[in-house]
Amino acid sequence: MQGFGETIFAEMSALAVRTGSINLGQGFPDEDGPRAVLDTAVEAIRTGANQYPPGPGLPELREAVAAQRLGRYGLSYDPAAEVFVTVGATEGIAASVLALAGPGDEVIVFEPYYDSYAAVIALAGAVRRPVTLRPAGGRFTFDPEELRAAVGPRTRAVLVNSPHNPAGTVFTRDELEAIAGVCREHDLVAITDEVYEYLTFDGTEHIPLATLDGMRDRTVSVSSAGKSFSVTGWKTGWVTAPAPHIRAVQTVKQFLTYAVNAPYQRAAAYALANELAWVEELRTSLQAKRDRLITGLEAAGFTAYRPQGTYFVQADIRPLGFTDGIELTRALPEKAGVVAIPTQVFYDHAEAGAHFVRFAFCKKDEVIDEAVERLARLGARA
Ligand code: PMP
Ligand code: GLN
Repeated sequence: MQGFGETIFAEMSALAVRTGSINLGQGFPDEDGPRAVLDTAVEAIRTGANQYPPGPGLPELREAVAAQRLGRYGLSYDPAAEVFVTVGATEGIAASVLALAGPGDEVIVFEPYYDSYAAVIALAGAVRRPVTLRPAGGRFTFDPEELRAAVGPRTRAVLVNSPHNPAGTVFTRDELEAIAGVCREHDLVAITDEVYEYLTFDGTEHIPLATLDGMRDRTVSVSSAGKSFSVTGWKTGWVTAPAPHIRAVQTVKQFLTYAVNAPYQRAAAYALANELAWVEELRTSLQAKRDRLITGLEAAGFTAYRPQGTYFVQADIRPLGFTDGIELTRALPEKAGVVAIPTQVFYDHAEAGAHFVRFAFCKKDEVIDEAVERLARLGARA
């Protein structure tokens, strides 16, 4: 793991605390999830959910996940054999990659990629093959030719994050078809990261890759409670997949953490079954916050990309006279009292991402307003 160092999220959040800056870096909401969900976790602790739960997860959460996948997407999974609870989506992705890829195998990722993908592919001894998302028509997308060219004899899996952090892209059916086509043709497994499945805007539909023709049987789908219910600190996630894939994931996961915290599993089950109206309100409020941040970033001189999902905006810093996002984000607390994430660290082809920084908008309106006011001074001084 030499070369991985501290994650950019830890580094930038520490920088925000040290400098007293507004933290639009690490993506976590500054308001908690629904009260009844929080109360369910407290009640679970008070009423005895305090010893090891079953390794695959509490039956009530596995049933709630199966019901959610069926009700929302028409995907049917057996809660006893095809649903598996993990320590956040992070562990779900890690266990899936470790289960499916070994030394020398290749895993295709779309860059900019979430940082844990690169780390866990390295932990597996596997090799990542990045396909670059580039701006076209106001959103980030990939060239299907580049995807096809990334497949080789050692390719085992494609890791697909949609809605995509940090690009904000929600893959269209055509884009997903291109991915599915490659998976079917080369007999690859798809691992999907769907943690922002509810956070899409302007009526954009999240389409799980597993719903495409022939894909349910070769897709390991991962999601979690953190983003949907604003409980990112709970680290409670799940995997849905065909039984043999789940068995492989379980074989790995049992030796990573054995089981997942019991009280939050109960609360996550409650949330999935009872709080989707709250999530819809969150989604609406985030869409307004997205627009608020973008208006402010544009006024400050950035070129901002309007995300179709997630709670992040990609901003091009070149109109302000900057070219290196790492340099700028390190200097930003002093220049403007704001912290952001340099997107470049999520690329292998650094030149494709050097001029982007990521701002999070899962924050109170007054925090966004104060941040963009400060960023406006940056342009004046540049
Ligand atoms: N995938 C993506 C794309 C993310 O942005 C995050 C961050 N929340 C995660 C996975 C991790 O999710 P969890 O906190 O449930 O492990
Ligand atoms: N997913 C969050 C983000 O992208 C952070 C998660 C983390 O700190 N590892 O900002």
